[in-house]
Amino acid sequence: MQEINTLWNIVLEKLKLSVADVSFVMWFKPLKVVDLNDDNVLYLATKSTFAKNQVLKNYFDRLKSAVEEVFGDNVEIEILDPSEEVAYISKNNPKTAIKDLEANKNPFNPKYTFDNFVVGKSNQTAYAAARAVAENPGKSFNPLFIYSGVGLGKTHLLHAIGNYIKETKPNLKIKYVTCEQFTNDYIESLGSAGKTKTYSEFRDKYRSCDVLMVDDIQFISKKTSTQEEFFNTFNDLHQFGKQIIISSDRPPKEIETLEERLRSRFTMGLIQDMQPPDFETRVAILRKKCQIEKYSISDEAISCIAEQIDSNVRALEGMLAKVCFLSGLLGKTTADLSDVSEAFNNKFEEKNQSGSTSDQIISAVCEYFSISREDMVGKKKSKEIVEPRMIAIYMISEMLDLPLVSIGKIFGGRDHTTIMHARDKISSEVKTNRKIQTFVSEIKKMLTSG
Ligand code: ADP
Ligand code: MG
Repeated sequence: MQEINTLWNIVLEKLKLSVADVSFVMWFKPLKVVDLNDDNVLYLATKSTFAKNQVLKNYFDRLKSAVEEVFGDNVEIEILDPSEEVAYISKNNPKTAIKDLEANKNPFNPKYTFDNFVVGKSNQTAYAAARAVAENPGKSFNPLFIYSGVGLGKTHLLHAIGNYIKETKPNLKIKYVTCEQFTNDYIESLGSAGKTKTYSEFRDKYRSCDVLMVDDIQFISKKTSTQEEFFNTFNDLHQFGKQIIISSDRPPKEIETLEERLRSRFTMGLIQDMQPPDFETRVAILRKKCQIEKYSISDEAISCIAEQIDSNVRALEGMLAKVCFLSGLLGKTTADLSDVSEAFNNKFEEKNQSGSTSDQIISAVCEYFSISREDMVGKKKSKEIVEPRMIAIYMISEMLDLPLVSIGKIFGGRDHTTIMHARDKISSEVKTNRKIQTFVSEIKKMLTSG
């Protein structure tokens, strides 16, 4: 079926060159391939009986010769009106489902939806703007310009808009390209033979859409002609209320090669940035990915990944996949902290340069305050226990390169926020409180002396 569609598209290209634009749009473009059966009959569906008759009466010869050129001389053509199409499909159940045709054309990743996008403080306004544009294309923010560092969800949001519009307004024509594709398309349209034709095809392609998305516009070349072309495309679309959505890794004012007039076009709508997600959002994103990819992984392991990678969601996802992959190699059903450690190449070795381990630090603190190890990592909340415990936590996090979740695990499975709180508390007291200062330095001496 894939090949038939490809061939049919070539037939359409040929027809487009051989008839007036209006005729092409009215009679040829709406034709749908229903089937190419074993007897080499190509079944084409029209939108109405009237259309069927028009094609038969005025355009059949042209259609036939284009089809023969592409599919071969022995192919017959059968034109169906809508009721004949339904009858044909129900009788013959052709593999050539029209749905495939549509599906193959969908440039949007089905996983990049609004539902799969985790919203946090760092991206909520960008998300809201993208939704508004998806719900009312051309009527809210135009253009919508989204920028952020790499791997923070720009492409995801663009695809989410695309998926949403495809579903709610299937008749709208959406064109999604990377800036690079736009540039290449444009250059190709100028370079090949039969220049004017291909350039006008390029023009048609970009100016006939209702929604144009250009991903990673920062790559727009210094070539003024490409910028000029984009400027004209932009104006044409904008003037007719067509939605334009642009993404970039930096705001318009920082794209050095951008011409002033394009820059000012971009500021006509809404310019919205996204920041790296905070810890809670990172955890939520990881959970979401687990749900989508059906990964099984412990909460501790998730927190640990979220704690270690904080500036790039793609890297976050990559690490999650690696952890689950490694865990699977070991035959485990659920990935845990040791798999995370493995995935980070055992970066969390529990030792600092002077050779102290978390175990030795805990022993030293217990000895210094004369409390038992059991109490140290246990649940008791009396002051005599809590303070030494917080000091031990502080010292471990200062002296070792351990993730907070791992420290939490050492202390009887405490939450990483508890660990963070203890660390921060002692860390500020050490600066002001003489007594605490002394405790810490004496314990350090115990550790180095033996
Ligand atoms: P960018 O285009 O900004 O470089 P992408 O859109 O390609 O980033 O995002 C990289 C990966 O991170 C994608 O797999 C995307 O699904 C994921 N991602 C980014 N932000 C989020 C989020 N808020 N919720 C869920 N997934 C996200
Ligand atoms: Mg991207």
